[in-house]
Amino acid sequence: MKITIIGTGYVGLVTGTCFAEGGHEVTCVDSDVNKIKVLQQGGMPIYEPGLPELVKKNVAAGRLFFTSNTQEGVERSDFIFIAVSTPPQPDGSLDLSFVEKVSRDIASAMTSYKIILDKSTVPVRTGEKVAETIGRFSKGKVDFDVVSNPEFLREGSAIEDFMKPDRVVVGVSSPRPVEALKALYAPFDAPVIVTSIESAELIKHAANSFLALKISYINAVSVLCEATGANVQEVAHGMGMDPRIGRKFLDASLGFGGSCFPKDLSAFIATSEMLGYEFGLLKEVQKINLGQMDRFVKKITDTLWVVRDKTIGVLGLAFKQDTDDVRNSPAIDLCKRLQRAGARLRVHDPQAMEKAGAILKDVDYVADMNEVAEGCDALVIATEWPEFKKLDLDRARRCLSHPIIFDGRNLFDPVEMERLGFLYKGIGR
Ligand code: NAD
Repeated sequence: MKITIIGTGYVGLVTGTCFAEGGHEVTCVDSDVNKIKVLQQGGMPIYEPGLPELVKKNVAAGRLFFTSNTQEGVERSDFIFIAVSTPPQPDGSLDLSFVEKVSRDIASAMTSYKIILDKSTVPVRTGEKVAETIGRFSKGKVDFDVVSNPEFLREGSAIEDFMKPDRVVVGVSSPRPVEALKALYAPFDAPVIVTSIESAELIKHAANSFLALKISYINAVSVLCEATGANVQEVAHGMGMDPRIGRKFLDASLGFGGSCFPKDLSAFIATSEMLGYEFGLLKEVQKINLGQMDRFVKKITDTLWVVRDKTIGVLGLAFKQDTDDVRNSPAIDLCKRLQRAGARLRVHDPQAMEKAGAILKDVDYVADMNEVAEGCDALVIATEWPEFKKLDLDRARRCLSHPIIFDGRNLFDPVEMERLGFLYKGIGR
């Protein structure tokens, strides 16, 4: 089948590459000419494990193409995906101008029947608007179907998530495209759930908001653990053994971030408000998340007493492990707060230092994680990269002016850390 993906970012590039791997012929389009040039020359604009190999393989097999020409992309294919960004606005609602622009571009390039799938995360009723816009701007009044096809992949395990999804959700307004959609996803052996467009749009926002809620729930419980001497990991383990609850997303931390959870949560709250419902539960989820960062910073400032002119080492800049994505990263937020308090920073991330460089200035970027602690007054762990567990703790203890570690991701065992001579402060333990 012939597929075009408009928007070749974290979602679009993975989607396109995986469809090509599934045997389809895929054209990835992006308005960012440099990004397309990098891809055409065999480079990779993002870090995602396994992606470079898969792109290379499918380009060589003649199933994966890159262009910055939307018209060419639309003409080539029967399925057109919209995978552009939907960034947040100051009031929490989403900026849908990229989705609108692409809808108009598709409309003016269409000369035959197309199935247009929205993969960008959008508020409920966007599908209706996309269909209206395409109908309005399609020159020859060409026939088409609009489908809501939300994406659930996680950066860091995006390929596995796309190739073996728990479910594929397709929201349609008529049965016409359903068989074609099932054939499109046939290579992936996943249940295809057919819903209305509105339900599909709601599934994405409701699912991500629920996951954020789960994180905030355990973070709130972590506060009680700290107040009582309980251990949040033991509590999470005991709760998570109940299959109705499950252990996933019950890891206490300095809070969630990234380009999806905070944005999706705010957008869901804003959409609810527009529909006349005040989603107070989700506002509390946001509040807990902010409070978790406040408490972590307070833990650092209380322990160091005076932060001004202290040097602090920070391990982790990406919003989570296995990605170079620093959009809305709690680690970057933490660094900025420490800078505002007058601290000097030495920072390291296995993949995200280049992207962090654009938004986090006046810090020392350190190439080797074991050198970060040199000359520091404390070490902070801000991202749960598994390699940080292999930190040379003996060396860190010797380098620090006093061996203090603040672990915002609970990577280490508090008892063991104390035995090694550290003043160790995690979350909820
Ligand atoms: P991204 O910023 O990495 O990629 C978006 C791409 O769209 C960019 O390369 C941009 O240049 C391109 N673009 C913008 N306007 C364009 C236009 N008019 N024509 C062609 N290309 C255009 O964003 P992303 O992380 O891939 O997210 C895309 C959407 O998917 C968002 O709605 C996001 O909420 C959703 N989503 C993201 C994830 C994730 O983990 N990143 C997961 C699920 C859903």
